[in-house]
Amino acid sequence: MLANIQGNDDTFLALDIGGTYVKSGLITRRGEILSFHSFPTSEGQSPTHLLELIIGRLKDLRSEAGSKRAPKALGIGAPGWIKPKEGVLALAPNIPGWKDLPITRLMSQALKIPAVLENDANLYGLGEWLAGAGRGHENLIVLTLGTGVGGGLILEGRLWSGSFASAAEIGHIPLGGERQRLCGCGRLGCLETVASTNGMRKIAIERVRDGEPTRYRGDLDLLDTSVMVELAQEGDPLSTRIFAEAGEAIGWVLAGVFNLLGLEAAVIGGGGAGAFDFILPSLKKVLSHHMVTATFDEIRVVKGALGGNAPLVGAAALLNNHGF
Ligand SMILES: [Zn+2]
Repeated sequence: MLANIQGNDDTFLALDIGGTYVKSGLITRRGEILSFHSFPTSEGQSPTHLLELIIGRLKDLRSEAGSKRAPKALGIGAPGWIKPKEGVLALAPNIPGWKDLPITRLMSQALKIPAVLENDANLYGLGEWLAGAGRGHENLIVLTLGTGVGGGLILEGRLWSGSFASAAEIGHIPLGGERQRLCGCGRLGCLETVASTNGMRKIAIERVRDGEPTRYRGDLDLLDTSVMVELAQEGDPLSTRIFAEAGEAIGWVLAGVFNLLGLEAAVIGGGGAGAFDFILPSLKKVLSHHMVTATFDEIRVVKGALGGNAPLVGAAALLNNHGF
Protein backbone atom coordinates (compact mmCIF):
# COMPACT_ATOMS: atom_id res chain seq x y z
CA MET A 1 0.00 0.00 0.00
CA LEU A 2 2.98 2.28 0.43
CA ALA A 3 4.62 1.08 -2.75
CA ASN A 4 4.63 4.55 -4.27
CA ILE A 5 6.88 5.97 -1.57
CA GLN A 6 9.48 8.19 -3.14
CA GLY A 7 11.62 9.22 -0.21
CA ASN A 8 11.21 8.24 3.40
CA ASP A 9 13.07 11.36 4.54
CA ASP A 10 10.39 13.60 3.03
CA THR A 11 8.42 15.79 5.38
CA PHE A 12 5.00 17.44 5.13
CA LEU A 13 3.11 20.06 7.07
CA ALA A 14 -0.19 18.99 8.59
CA LEU A 15 -2.99 21.22 9.82
CA ASP A 16 -6.13 20.19 11.69
CA ILE A 17 -8.58 23.07 12.14
CA GLY A 18 -11.06 22.13 14.83
CA GLY A 19 -13.83 24.16 16.41
CA THR A 20 -11.95 24.03 19.74
CA TYR A 21 -8.26 23.70 18.84
CA VAL A 22 -6.08 24.33 15.83
CA LYS A 23 -3.33 21.70 15.67
CA SER A 24 -0.40 21.68 13.32
CA GLY A 25 2.58 19.44 12.87
CA LEU A 26 5.66 18.61 10.88
CA ILE A 27 5.23 14.98 9.85
CA THR A 28 7.07 12.34 7.87
CA ARG A 29 5.68 10.45 4.91
CA ARG A 30 5.00 7.53 7.26
CA GLY A 31 2.94 9.76 9.56
CA GLU A 32 5.45 10.23 12.38
CA ILE A 33 4.95 13.62 14.06
CA LEU A 34 8.32 15.40 14.37
CA SER A 35 7.01 18.68 15.83
CA PHE A 36 3.61 19.71 17.09
CA HIS A 37 1.79 22.97 17.86
CA SER A 38 -1.70 23.54 19.23
CA PHE A 39 -3.69 26.62 20.23
CA PRO A 40 -7.35 27.34 21.06
CA THR A 41 -9.34 28.32 17.97
CA SER A 42 -10.86 31.14 20.03
CA GLU A 43 -7.43 32.88 20.09
CA GLY A 44 -8.24 34.09 16.59
CA GLN A 45 -9.91 37.44 17.26
CA SER A 46 -11.29 37.71 13.74
CA PRO A 47 -11.42 35.40 10.71
CA THR A 48 -8.33 37.11 9.27
CA HIS A 49 -6.46 37.03 12.58
CA LEU A 50 -7.08 33.30 12.91
CA LEU A 51 -5.63 32.75 9.44
CA GLU A 52 -2.57 34.83 10.36
CA LEU A 53 -2.04 32.79 13.54
CA ILE A 54 -2.24 29.54 11.57
CA ILE A 55 0.18 30.72 8.91
CA GLY A 56 2.58 31.89 11.64
CA ARG A 57 2.58 28.46 13.30
CA LEU A 58 3.10 26.68 10.01
CA LYS A 59 6.04 28.96 9.16
CA ASP A 60 7.57 28.18 12.58
CA LEU A 61 7.28 24.48 11.84
CA ARG A 62 8.84 24.97 8.42
CA SER A 63 11.80 26.79 10.02
CA GLU A 64 12.25 23.96 12.51
CA ALA A 65 12.44 21.52 9.61
CA GLY A 66 15.45 23.35 8.17
CA SER A 67 16.42 23.29 4.54
CA LYS A 68 17.44 19.61 4.50
CA ARG A 69 13.95 18.40 5.43
CA ALA A 70 11.89 21.23 3.95
CA PRO A 71 8.22 20.14 3.81
CA LYS A 72 6.97 19.28 0.31
CA ALA A 73 3.27 20.00 0.79
CA LEU A 74 0.58 20.85 3.33
CA GLY A 75 -2.38 18.60 4.21
CA ILE A 76 -5.36 20.40 5.78
CA GLY A 77 -8.23 18.84 7.70
CA ALA A 78 -11.29 20.94 8.43
CA PRO A 79 -14.77 20.33 9.83
CA GLY A 80 -18.04 21.44 8.33
CA TRP A 81 -18.90 21.71 4.69
CA ILE A 82 -15.84 21.66 2.44
CA LYS A 83 -15.14 21.36 -1.27
CA PRO A 84 -11.91 19.32 -1.40
CA LYS A 85 -11.37 19.60 -5.16
CA GLU A 86 -11.68 23.39 -5.12
CA GLY A 87 -9.81 23.66 -1.81
CA VAL A 88 -12.62 25.74 -0.38
CA LEU A 89 -13.98 25.67 3.14
CA ALA A 90 -17.59 26.49 2.32
CA LEU A 91 -18.97 26.62 5.86
CA ALA A 92 -17.46 25.79 9.23
CA PRO A 93 -20.27 26.25 11.78
CA ASN A 94 -17.87 26.34 14.77
CA ILE A 95 -15.55 28.95 13.27
CA PRO A 96 -17.36 32.29 13.04
CA GLY A 97 -16.73 34.24 9.87
CA TRP A 98 -15.12 31.48 7.82
CA LYS A 99 -17.35 31.10 4.80
CA ASP A 100 -16.36 30.21 1.23
CA LEU A 101 -12.73 30.47 2.29
CA PRO A 102 -10.26 29.42 -0.46
CA ILE A 103 -7.98 27.96 2.18
CA THR A 104 -5.64 25.89 0.01
CA ARG A 105 -4.87 28.89 -2.25
CA LEU A 106 -4.26 31.18 0.75
CA MET A 107 -1.98 28.63 2.45
CA SER A 108 -0.10 27.82 -0.76
CA GLN A 109 0.57 31.51 -1.40
CA ALA A 110 1.77 32.09 2.17
CA LEU A 111 3.95 28.99 2.44
CA LYS A 112 5.01 28.52 -1.21
CA ILE A 113 4.12 24.82 -1.19
CA PRO A 114 1.09 22.95 -2.57
CA ALA A 115 -1.83 22.34 -0.19
CA VAL A 116 -4.62 19.75 -0.17
CA LEU A 117 -7.88 20.04 1.79
CA GLU A 118 -9.90 17.14 3.18
CA ASN A 119 -12.75 16.59 5.63
CA ASP A 120 -11.40 16.09 9.18
CA ALA A 121 -13.23 12.77 9.66
CA ASN A 122 -11.60 11.46 6.48
CA LEU A 123 -8.18 12.57 7.69
CA TYR A 124 -8.81 10.89 11.04
CA GLY A 125 -9.61 7.67 9.17
CA LEU A 126 -6.52 7.95 6.99
CA GLY A 127 -4.38 8.48 10.10
CA GLU A 128 -5.61 5.35 11.85
CA TRP A 129 -5.15 3.43 8.60
CA LEU A 130 -1.61 4.66 7.93
CA ALA A 131 -0.09 4.42 11.38
CA GLY A 132 -2.76 3.52 13.94
CA ALA A 133 -5.19 0.75 14.82
CA GLY A 134 -6.20 0.18 11.19
CA ARG A 135 -2.69 -0.35 9.86
CA GLY A 136 -2.36 -3.25 7.46
CA HIS A 137 -6.03 -3.35 6.43
CA GLU A 138 -7.12 -2.54 2.89
CA ASN A 139 -10.85 -2.23 3.55
CA LEU A 140 -11.96 -0.60 6.74
CA ILE A 141 -14.10 2.06 8.31
CA VAL A 142 -12.96 4.42 11.07
CA LEU A 143 -15.70 5.87 13.28
CA THR A 144 -15.14 8.90 15.48
CA LEU A 145 -17.49 9.20 18.42
CA GLY A 146 -17.39 12.92 19.21
CA THR A 147 -19.97 15.71 19.22
CA GLY A 148 -21.32 13.81 16.23
CA VAL A 149 -20.32 10.45 14.76
CA GLY A 150 -17.86 10.84 11.88
CA GLY A 151 -16.64 8.24 9.46
CA GLY A 152 -13.64 7.66 7.23
CA LEU A 153 -13.98 4.82 4.74
CA ILE A 154 -10.89 3.25 3.18
CA LEU A 155 -11.52 0.88 0.27
CA GLU A 156 -8.68 -1.00 -1.41
CA GLY A 157 -6.20 1.21 0.42
CA ARG A 158 -7.68 4.51 -0.73
CA LEU A 159 -9.99 7.02 0.85
CA TRP A 160 -13.53 6.74 -0.50
CA SER A 161 -15.32 10.08 -0.87
CA GLY A 162 -18.11 9.10 -3.24
CA SER A 163 -19.48 11.35 -5.96
CA PHE A 164 -20.07 14.30 -3.67
CA ALA A 165 -16.65 14.58 -2.02
CA SER A 166 -18.13 13.77 1.36
CA ALA A 167 -16.89 11.83 4.36
CA ALA A 168 -18.56 8.49 5.11
CA GLU A 169 -21.53 10.01 6.91
CA ILE A 170 -22.14 6.94 9.03
CA GLY A 171 -23.43 9.13 11.87
CA HIS A 172 -26.50 9.98 9.81
CA ILE A 173 -27.47 6.43 8.87
CA PRO A 174 -31.03 6.10 10.22
CA LEU A 175 -31.73 3.53 12.91
CA GLY A 176 -35.50 3.29 12.45
CA GLY A 177 -37.54 2.04 15.37
CA GLU A 178 -40.19 3.78 17.41
CA ARG A 179 -38.33 6.09 19.77
CA GLN A 180 -36.40 8.22 17.31
CA ARG A 181 -34.43 11.17 18.61
CA LEU A 182 -33.86 14.46 16.79
CA CYS A 183 -30.43 14.77 15.17
CA GLY A 184 -28.36 17.93 14.73
CA CYS A 185 -28.92 17.53 10.98
CA GLY A 186 -32.65 18.09 11.52
CA ARG A 187 -33.67 14.50 10.78
CA LEU A 188 -34.97 11.85 13.15
CA GLY A 189 -33.27 8.67 14.32
CA CYS A 190 -29.68 9.10 13.03
CA LEU A 191 -26.99 6.89 14.62
CA GLU A 192 -25.28 9.87 16.24
CA THR A 193 -28.36 10.70 18.32
CA VAL A 194 -27.52 7.68 20.48
CA ALA A 195 -23.82 6.96 19.80
CA SER A 196 -22.10 10.36 19.82
CA THR A 197 -20.68 11.72 23.08
CA ASN A 198 -23.22 14.51 22.87
CA GLY A 199 -26.09 12.07 22.24
CA MET A 200 -25.10 9.75 25.09
CA ARG A 201 -24.70 12.70 27.46
CA LYS A 202 -28.14 14.06 26.59
CA ILE A 203 -29.78 10.66 27.12
CA ALA A 204 -28.05 10.31 30.49
CA ILE A 205 -29.24 13.72 31.66
CA GLU A 206 -32.82 13.00 30.58
CA ARG A 207 -32.86 9.68 32.39
CA VAL A 208 -31.40 11.10 35.60
CA ARG A 209 -34.16 13.73 35.48
CA ASP A 210 -36.70 10.95 34.93
CA GLY A 211 -35.47 9.34 38.14
CA GLU A 212 -33.65 6.30 36.72
CA PRO A 213 -31.29 4.73 39.27
CA THR A 214 -27.70 5.99 39.03
CA ARG A 215 -24.69 6.51 41.25
CA TYR A 216 -24.27 10.03 39.88
CA ARG A 217 -24.86 12.73 42.49
CA GLY A 218 -23.22 15.77 40.83
CA ASP A 219 -24.37 18.73 38.80
CA LEU A 220 -26.16 17.56 35.65
CA ASP A 221 -24.28 20.13 33.55
CA LEU A 222 -21.04 18.32 34.40
CA LEU A 223 -22.28 14.88 33.39
CA ASP A 224 -20.50 13.78 30.19
CA THR A 225 -19.22 10.56 28.69
CA SER A 226 -15.85 10.80 30.53
CA VAL A 227 -17.72 10.91 33.84
CA MET A 228 -20.01 8.13 32.58
CA VAL A 229 -16.98 5.91 31.89
CA GLU A 230 -15.80 6.38 35.49
CA LEU A 231 -19.32 5.63 36.71
CA ALA A 232 -19.58 2.53 34.53
CA GLN A 233 -16.29 1.26 35.97
CA GLU A 234 -17.95 1.48 39.39
CA GLY A 235 -20.93 -0.47 38.10
CA ASP A 236 -23.35 2.42 37.53
CA PRO A 237 -26.45 0.90 35.88
CA LEU A 238 -27.46 4.04 33.95
CA SER A 239 -24.09 4.66 32.26
CA THR A 240 -23.57 0.98 31.55
CA ARG A 241 -26.96 0.72 29.89
CA ILE A 242 -26.51 3.84 27.73
CA PHE A 243 -23.13 2.55 26.49
CA ALA A 244 -24.67 -0.86 25.76
CA GLU A 245 -27.46 0.79 23.77
CA ALA A 246 -24.91 2.83 21.82
CA GLY A 247 -22.95 -0.36 21.09
CA GLU A 248 -26.09 -2.08 19.87
CA ALA A 249 -26.94 0.83 17.56
CA ILE A 250 -23.39 0.91 16.15
CA GLY A 251 -23.67 -2.87 15.70
CA TRP A 252 -26.83 -2.53 13.60
CA VAL A 253 -25.24 0.09 11.36
CA LEU A 254 -21.93 -1.75 11.04
CA ALA A 255 -23.75 -4.97 10.12
CA GLY A 256 -25.16 -3.15 7.10
CA VAL A 257 -21.84 -1.56 6.23
CA PHE A 258 -19.83 -4.79 6.59
CA ASN A 259 -22.36 -6.79 4.58
CA LEU A 260 -22.42 -4.19 1.82
CA LEU A 261 -18.69 -3.63 1.49
CA GLY A 262 -17.02 -6.76 2.81
CA LEU A 263 -14.84 -4.79 5.19
CA GLU A 264 -12.23 -6.46 7.36
CA ALA A 265 -12.00 -3.93 10.19
CA ALA A 266 -13.71 -1.13 12.04
CA VAL A 267 -11.75 1.28 14.22
CA ILE A 268 -13.60 3.27 16.86
CA GLY A 269 -11.93 6.54 17.83
CA GLY A 270 -12.87 9.99 19.10
CA GLY A 271 -13.58 11.03 22.68
CA GLY A 272 -16.32 8.41 23.04
CA ALA A 273 -13.82 5.62 22.44
CA GLY A 274 -13.03 5.92 26.17
CA ALA A 275 -16.21 3.85 26.57
CA PHE A 276 -14.99 1.21 24.08
CA ASP A 277 -14.94 -1.65 26.61
CA PHE A 278 -18.55 -0.93 27.59
CA ILE A 279 -19.74 -0.49 24.00
CA LEU A 280 -18.07 -3.55 22.51
CA PRO A 281 -20.06 -6.46 24.03
CA SER A 282 -23.46 -5.38 22.65
CA LEU A 283 -21.88 -4.20 19.39
CA LYS A 284 -20.24 -7.60 18.94
CA LYS A 285 -23.47 -9.44 19.75
CA VAL A 286 -25.49 -7.62 17.07
CA LEU A 287 -22.73 -7.52 14.45
CA SER A 288 -21.72 -11.17 14.81
CA HIS A 289 -25.36 -12.25 14.48
CA HIS A 290 -26.14 -10.14 11.39
CA MET A 291 -22.89 -10.24 9.43
CA VAL A 292 -22.89 -12.61 6.46
CA THR A 293 -19.70 -11.62 4.59
CA ALA A 294 -17.37 -13.05 7.25
CA THR A 295 -17.48 -14.37 10.79
CA PHE A 296 -16.76 -12.02 13.66
CA ASP A 297 -13.47 -13.88 14.26
CA GLU A 298 -12.32 -13.00 10.75
CA ILE A 299 -12.74 -9.26 11.21
CA ARG A 300 -11.44 -6.76 13.77
CA VAL A 301 -13.34 -4.16 15.75
CA VAL A 302 -10.73 -2.19 17.64
CA LYS A 303 -10.24 1.02 19.57
CA GLY A 304 -8.40 3.85 17.81
CA ALA A 305 -4.73 4.17 18.67
CA LEU A 306 -3.84 7.77 17.79
CA GLY A 307 -6.40 9.87 19.64
CA GLY A 308 -6.69 13.54 18.70
CA ASN A 309 -3.53 13.48 16.58
CA ALA A 310 -5.02 11.05 14.05
CA PRO A 311 -5.94 13.82 11.54
CA LEU A 312 -2.37 15.17 11.51
CA VAL A 313 -1.04 11.68 10.84
CA GLY A 314 -3.71 11.25 8.16
CA ALA A 315 -2.39 14.30 6.31
CA ALA A 316 0.64 12.20 5.36
CA ALA A 317 -1.57 9.54 3.79
CA LEU A 318 -3.64 12.19 2.02
CA LEU A 319 -0.54 13.76 0.47
CA ASN A 320 0.85 10.32 -0.45
CA ASN A 321 -2.44 9.61 -2.22
CA HIS A 322 -2.16 12.91 -4.09
CA GLY A 323 1.25 11.95 -5.40
CA PHE A 324 3.43 14.24 -3.30
ZN1 LIG B 1 -28.44 13.23 11.34
